[in-house]
Amino acid sequence: MDQIHVTLPDGSVKEFPKGTTPVDVAKSISPRLAEAALVAKVSATDGNGAKGKSGIFSNSVDPAEDGSLLYDLRRPLEQDVKLHILTEKDPDALYVFRHSAAHLLAAAVMELYPNVKLGIGPPVENGFFYEFLREEPFTPEDLVKIEKKMHELAAQDLPNERKLLPKPEALKLYQDSKQLFKCELIEEKADEPMVSFYTTGKFIDFCRGPHIPSTKRIQAFKLMNVAGAYWKGQEGNPQLQRIYAAAFFSQKELDAHLHRLEEAKRRDHRRLGAELDLFSIQEQAGPGLIFWHPKGGLIRTLVENWLREELVKRGYDLVFTPHIMLFDLWKTSGHANFYKESMFGAVEVEKAHYQLKPMNCPGHILIYKTKLRSYRDLPVRLAELGTVYRYERSGVLHGLLRVRGFTQDDAHIFCTPGQIELEVEACVDFAFAVMKNFGFDKYEVELSDWDEKHPENYAGKPEDWHRATNALRSTMDRMNIPYKRIEGEAAFYGPKIDVKLIDAIGRSWQLTTVQFDFNLPARFGLEYVGEDGKRHQPLMVHRALLGSVERFFGILIEHYAGAFPLWLAPVQVEICPVSEKVQDYAKHVHETLKNHSIRVHLDERNEKLPAKIRDAQMQKTPYMLVVGPKEADAGSVSVRHRSKGDLGARPLADVVTALQEEIASRLIQ
Ligand SMILES: [Zn+2]
Ligand SMILES: [Zn+2]
Repeated sequence: MDQIHVTLPDGSVKEFPKGTTPVDVAKSISPRLAEAALVAKVSATDGNGAKGKSGIFSNSVDPAEDGSLLYDLRRPLEQDVKLHILTEKDPDALYVFRHSAAHLLAAAVMELYPNVKLGIGPPVENGFFYEFLREEPFTPEDLVKIEKKMHELAAQDLPNERKLLPKPEALKLYQDSKQLFKCELIEEKADEPMVSFYTTGKFIDFCRGPHIPSTKRIQAFKLMNVAGAYWKGQEGNPQLQRIYAAAFFSQKELDAHLHRLEEAKRRDHRRLGAELDLFSIQEQAGPGLIFWHPKGGLIRTLVENWLREELVKRGYDLVFTPHIMLFDLWKTSGHANFYKESMFGAVEVEKAHYQLKPMNCPGHILIYKTKLRSYRDLPVRLAELGTVYRYERSGVLHGLLRVRGFTQDDAHIFCTPGQIELEVEACVDFAFAVMKNFGFDKYEVELSDWDEKHPENYAGKPEDWHRATNALRSTMDRMNIPYKRIEGEAAFYGPKIDVKLIDAIGRSWQLTTVQFDFNLPARFGLEYVGEDGKRHQPLMVHRALLGSVERFFGILIEHYAGAFPLWLAPVQVEICPVSEKVQDYAKHVHETLKNHSIRVHLDERNEKLPAKIRDAQMQKTPYMLVVGPKEADAGSVSVRHRSKGDLGARPLADVVTALQEEIASRLIQ
């Protein structure tokens, strides 16, 4: 067979001589495509390719789930294939691009430091790394040199060429150059007689590829840092130095990424938490446990008060349940089994075993069960700012975002099937009210559904699942909320919707969850008396809007970069007298604001005005009121806003009114 058939993405089939390369195919379509092409996606049309390591899959990375494989543009096609030419628009191409950039890094390092030993160099999120064994640590100056060398090599437009060597020769090549990590990799990974290599100029690397055609497109990258890593990630192995880099197709994308990193650093809630004296984590008390300082505690109180008011307005009942309950309760709920890994150990008191609660649900269920409910009593909505304790490995703890003790704004809704749509809608409406109140206007919604083909993996009857999923979907449709449905992602006990908000710098945060539960009502034998006089099992929904108060606070700090809106600012106004001569008037201003329930602080230090203003700015206090002899005579204050600067002198009474209005409006600015 001297001709092969190539099926293109539009379904058309073209005939080419055997040995044609993807770039030849691209040229036959359009020179522009050939120019933009980076790599090809290939799959066998005869269905053989996906089954084994024969034919087109020989000497290649494992095929993707759809049976396709990424191919170098210059790799000959030997049989009938489906072919897709990938350009910068395809995420797969970015991955290959970053892998090629990793080779470029290794090529540059080998030129500058010929004695280093090579580890591995994969693409990662936003870039790539390559790891090296070298006695001296790479310094920041080294990175500058390496980056320069990479640009030099990139400009030479060196081709990335694929070569095959018999395995013994491949091993000898690396034994001779004393690249023992590479020998180890070949021994382990090369499971065919021929081993594939890629060369980039003088540099050669054992690699299954694929790669972009040459180095010239690798322009937008930046070496970020060096981190120690054990060979193969195993302690006791030699320690290598990983050089991490960011890499993108365009300088614009790279710049945007670097800017995001800078912003994230500037907004880091752990740093701001200390600088603004909001919270701490105390070594003496243990990891993952949060101490709320007076200023953080005040913000939390304001957030919780707002929430409690809304809960009452929206028909929830506020309850409290114990932090510690008998271990047997968690056996009934099933947590002792499927949630064991996340629970603190049991505590023994008077020979009985108690469990620190990891969830609030069983507590609310016990309240529901204290009396027989009729359909007229439903829906029952029990809400609690419930503190729970969950075991997380100390290595994954992170500031306020990942902790061991936290307070959920939790609620459980028990209702009849006929009520479920309105309840879901009310939850979603509440979630949006939360986002609006705290100044988030971008979000993503995900609906996690079951995998209908495997009902045996789930609790509850198929009709329960259909009803619940329909309620979630029709609510989203009716409210005009776009969402992504993810099949098979539901928990075993019910479908859910998750709302992820997007913060000021485009990061997404999982916040609200509205989750059905077909498991707990059955386990606890929950009932209500229906209109028909018979007993029925109520539907149960878990829902949390903020998620955890701790985590939400962390998100708020980062979203506002510590500059809380006036209604949440721990100190709303700093009074800055220009000298001691106006002390009496400054005290009068202080008293006046205090009497109008404005959180105010008087800076009585013997400091110059610029120092007082600088410190208030550092604390991100929304307003500074400067008072001097002129203001004292006129009964006015000079208003300064932390971001708008000097707003001029205004009568004190007017300023009080304006402040009160801004606080009441909960304006975000
Ligand atoms: Zn490679
Ligand atoms: Zn729950």
